[in-house]
Amino acid sequence: MAISTINPATGELLKTFEPLKDTEIATKLDLAQQAFDKYRHTSLQERSQLLQSCADILEQDAEKFAKLMTLEMGKTYKSAIAEAKKCALVCRYYAEHGAEFLADVPAKTDASQSFIRYQPLGIILAVMPWNFPFWQVFRFAAPALMAGNVALLKHASNVPQCALAIESIFHQAGFADGVFQTLLIGANQVADLMADERIKASTLTGSEPAGASLAMASGKQIKKTVLELGGSDPFIVLSTADLEAAAVTGTTARMLNNGQSCIAAKRFIVVDAIADKFEKLLLEKFQALKLGDPMVPETDIGPLATAKILQDLDQQVQKMVHIGAKVVLGGNPVANSSGNYYPPTLITDIPQEHPIAKEEFFGPVAMLFRVPDIDAAIKLANDTPFGLGGSAWTNDPQEQQRLINEIEAGAVFINGMVKSDPRMPFGGIKRSGYGRELSIQGIHEFVNVKTVWVK
Ligand code: NAP
Repeated sequence: MAISTINPATGELLKTFEPLKDTEIATKLDLAQQAFDKYRHTSLQERSQLLQSCADILEQDAEKFAKLMTLEMGKTYKSAIAEAKKCALVCRYYAEHGAEFLADVPAKTDASQSFIRYQPLGIILAVMPWNFPFWQVFRFAAPALMAGNVALLKHASNVPQCALAIESIFHQAGFADGVFQTLLIGANQVADLMADERIKASTLTGSEPAGASLAMASGKQIKKTVLELGGSDPFIVLSTADLEAAAVTGTTARMLNNGQSCIAAKRFIVVDAIADKFEKLLLEKFQALKLGDPMVPETDIGPLATAKILQDLDQQVQKMVHIGAKVVLGGNPVANSSGNYYPPTLITDIPQEHPIAKEEFFGPVAMLFRVPDIDAAIKLANDTPFGLGGSAWTNDPQEQQRLINEIEAGAVFINGMVKSDPRMPFGGIKRSGYGRELSIQGIHEFVNVKTVWVK
């Protein structure tokens, strides 16, 4: 994929970048290693102050960064501002808690003194997606840098200006040259990079094939990876649920970021007793959404990020129709538009066993399934290769406990939508990946957990 900015709202090619040559990559790797050799010795207090400065810049210039995000990948401007501010939040979170998370942990043994010490690993490569072009990077970088590592970013090819803006934030905040660098490179240049012995570990947020490819390249070099991959999260509604609240939240949970979120509610699983009522409510909320120019404040849903995503989503929906599913709302790309617009879409009567019902739909398309009871709901919720998150709605405490225990996912939210929060770990199981970001778990992914024993 060419490294370029194409406005998804108009299809206009705005800027193209040449991928870095091998010699240029080598220079940046040299700089990263030199930076690490010094940066690892900085105090936690100094790193904390640098992260606070990043947060200040993100807050002060939120509008500037938001415009860039909307321009390059089509998210609504209002949600892009919120994203910039959330990045500030994660910087402050690790600035405030980093020292506590990285402090020595004493252990009682036969030694006169024994403890665990957390030390940085070195250069970490982050391969990131376009859908939350700032947030995905900051939720990796804030803990990684707080722990004393240095970072190289290979961002998605359709958000190069966001990638460069992020590099400039770290620079402006006062991090030394080379502590955080953006590499404008193609996906085909990643495996060779992982072979460089100075890169100690990597993280990838994106699709399963990309994750598998990075894990293979890293595995060959015995290097650690964290993978945050796709999801097809269930949104279960049982009979005691507050249906209005579930429909309102379900709509947000499906349509957030123009439907392009890994933790979006992609499969609504609803018990028969309340299915008609819930479907009607959900349909009403979907119908009320405004599709259009992402820069306009009234817009709820902007264009999909690329023409390819639009094409892929359209093909999935057509396949659904072909196997006999019913399109209750939407179902076709917006005609005569040069932008990648796809309307809110609701699909019912889906053959549950068909492989397409287990796929991830990366756009504003909701699948709705009816089931007789909680047993069938849990079975269907787990009948997917993914295991990222799950939202379940019920006011029955026993049902809540069953859902918490039996949903196979990295997160379960009861009577709320699945979301990321710096204070809680984030990540998946099954084909949604492994490892965790955020919270104390996130900062411990890229450290050497050193056992120290002194007699
Ligand atoms: P993608 O194609 O996998 O791209 C993600 C990143 O991986 C991009 O930087 C891409 O570079 C790179 N990449 C692609 N193929 C690669 C390869 N073979 N080796 C190394 N790097 C490679 O993902 P996407 O389709 O744009 O993003 C959507 C997916 O990300 C969805 O499945 C979504 O659920 C998932 N996602 C997961 C999370 C999470 O936290 N679990 C969060 C957000 C998104 P190029 O752009 O140059 O191809």
